[in-house]
Amino acid sequence: MIGIIGAMDIEISLLTAAMSDCEEFTCCSQKFLWGRIGGCEVVVSKCGIGKVNAAMCASIMILKFGADIIINTGVAGALDRSLKQLDLVISSAFVQHDIDLSPIGIEPGLIPENGSVSIASDAELSALALSLAPSPDGAKAITGVIATGDQFIADSGRAADIAARFGAAACDMEGGAIAQVCAMSGIKLIALRCISDNADGSAGLSFDEFAPQAADKCSNMVLRLLDAIAKKDGQAI
Ligand code: SAH
Repeated sequence: MIGIIGAMDIEISLLTAAMSDCEEFTCCSQKFLWGRIGGCEVVVSKCGIGKVNAAMCASIMILKFGADIIINTGVAGALDRSLKQLDLVISSAFVQHDIDLSPIGIEPGLIPENGSVSIASDAELSALALSLAPSPDGAKAITGVIATGDQFIADSGRAADIAARFGAAACDMEGGAIAQVCAMSGIKLIALRCISDNADGSAGLSFDEFAPQAADKCSNMVLRLLDAIAKKDGQAI
């Protein structure tokens, strides 16, 4: 069972349109569509913006729907300055850039119980996704660290700080929270994030212009990944 999480309607609409044998459930005010996409059994949800929504959605997918893989799909701000709008970032790892216990001597980004600042993405899923790139439209695809926080980053100084501190390629508001839930539950996770903006002063306008197209591109990549997972037929993954 593969759980697919987007934060916004535009991030899941192509996926729900591709579903068959679909049933709808509501749990803790979140809606879950359970059915098939091609050869994969999936549960798809729009979790809403931010870490709490994302963590709750991932937990429900694991506990109620038996998800053993989660794919987080959606748009992101670019921190790696070689990235442009509509390029793709495939997660290699996740951090939560807004966790900060440094006044009491703990490394920024570290949740003491987690033991490390970064949480790895599933290496096989990331390699599989990268093997499907570049996308047919030729956009760049890289693997990189996703930095998550409950903030829309729209300041080039702040973006540079997060990039430097965590070696992050892109910023979002959900991935790191889903990663924590998956790590605590022993569930495989990959995030596919398409760039909507540069997390700088123009991020708001850029987000409005590019988010719908970026979200669709990411969903198309998810569809290709599902196809590849189905073809592997449960052997390695
Ligand atoms: N307009 C939306 C809110 C979008 S918040 C609404 O009204 O519901 C931005 C979303 O896109 C988040 O889900 C986040 O994961 C991602 N995102 C894109 N660019 C971002 C940036 N610069 N900083 C943080 N998150 C970003």
